[in-house]
Amino acid sequence: MAHTLYEYDGLCRNIHGHSYNLEVTLTGVPRNEPGHPKDGMVLDFSDLKEIVKSKIVNRFDHSLMVNNRIPDSQKELLRKTTERMIVVDFQPTSENIVAYIAEILQQHLPENVSLFSIRLYETVTAFAEWFASDNQ
Ligand SMILES: [Zn+2]
Repeated sequence: MAHTLYEYDGLCRNIHGHSYNLEVTLTGVPRNEPGHPKDGMVLDFSDLKEIVKSKIVNRFDHSLMVNNRIPDSQKELLRKTTERMIVVDFQPTSENIVAYIAEILQQHLPENVSLFSIRLYETVTAFAEWFASDNQ
């Protein structure tokens, strides 16, 4: 995904992209139903994968995320260069994006599981992490 930081005083004010890496950790009680094919699972990994893919990856991959504060004229120009622009009401830093992702995922998880944490890597060595315990 590409992004640009509004009025930032460094290189990241220019449009650039990252191969973001997302780690999602859930908490819940494993199913205790001996003989059931999903016995011992909190959530089938494939179900989690599907939620993350459909709600996050498919939406953000190869998109350009911009802060709503950029001038409308700039938004219009950018719309001409990409079909996948996401305008958000925040500065699209990793810290803010990870909180945004948490908000989206919380709406789509089954009732018996909840988010524990989310880690979003912007590079191999730089990440922002969100913990449910800090956001209650
Ligand atoms: Zn960046």
